[in-house]
Amino acid sequence: MRPSLLSQTPEELSEIMEGLGEPSYRGGQILEWLWQKRATSIEGMSNLPARLREHLKESFTLRSLSPAKSQGSRDSTRKFLFRLHDGRYIECVLIPASPALYGERSDRRTLCVSSQVGCAFGCKFCASGLDGFTRNLTADEIAGQVLLAEELSGEKVNNIVFMGMGEPLANLPQLLKALELITSPWGLGIGARHLTVSTSGLVPQIRKLADHPQQIRLAISLHGASNDVRDQIMPVNRKWPVDELFKALSYWTKRKNQKITLEYILIDGINADPAQARLLAQHAESLRAKVNLIPYNTVDGLKWKRPPEEECHAFRDILAARGIPATLRLEKGHDIDAACGQLRLKEEHAEKQDLS
Ligand code: SF4
Repeated sequence: MRPSLLSQTPEELSEIMEGLGEPSYRGGQILEWLWQKRATSIEGMSNLPARLREHLKESFTLRSLSPAKSQGSRDSTRKFLFRLHDGRYIECVLIPASPALYGERSDRRTLCVSSQVGCAFGCKFCASGLDGFTRNLTADEIAGQVLLAEELSGEKVNNIVFMGMGEPLANLPQLLKALELITSPWGLGIGARHLTVSTSGLVPQIRKLADHPQQIRLAISLHGASNDVRDQIMPVNRKWPVDELFKALSYWTKRKNQKITLEYILIDGINADPAQARLLAQHAESLRAKVNLIPYNTVDGLKWKRPPEEECHAFRDILAARGIPATLRLEKGHDIDAACGQLRLKEEHAEKQDLS
């Protein structure tokens, strides 16, 4: 497989140009074609000499993703399924600003991107882990989701959350490179403060990312406030239990001086009782964290369901009574398989059936 031009940094392109005996400004021209002019073919990079275009075509691919399917929902959340060069699928979701949270005139467009094909972490409620882990995405496959989603939607993405398929911190080297492609002025130019990396709780990588100079934001898929609850639904907790996780989070808040978001999917009969709410409030208070409560989206093949609405409200009220900023999101995209990994699973299973 030839490497993708999209994953090259200015330094790498400069080196390539030097090796080819080309002036170094050619690297800048290529970057402009890739990120600003959004070239769809190397041939179309008209200000590059023909011999250089030929060489680039032989040595690189332009992009490694192609659109496979898109679904729009009633609330205009859109989900995209992309095909990778090896026939695998990943998905990302474009979410418009909620007027309730950001006001009627907000132009916030959030893209939720994937970082791996499948996931090895096996959270019991999650569609992404159902078929296990296949492979890490490369940096250009991660950043390429933004380019392709913008082209397909005709909208400019200005906020990115790494909450799609996969555990981003289990793919840290490629994630860091993708952050460079996304935040650099020569790349997508989206400010680091508009990027949120979400993790199920990989303690050593949280500490590493805390030391990274960019002011990216952190969200934790917590989904249980005590070890007994978290152990039941998130195997990662056996390796890094709640107290170790919160030590790492407190290290993060000291290094970055910013609020962490605790994501908490409410699952009926598992983690939605008042005792968990009180414990969650204590944790959030100790970190001065925000909490996002998300009633569970049913996943085909899994037994979990969302609690009754009044239980969700009661959970939120316990947090609010303790002064914890908590939102209860009736999750967008419920009607388009927006729970991460569902659309891709359907597509891959349908293909397997076609082949059998
Ligand atoms: S919730 Fe995240 S870490 Fe857990 S299985 Fe799903 S994708 Fe992996």
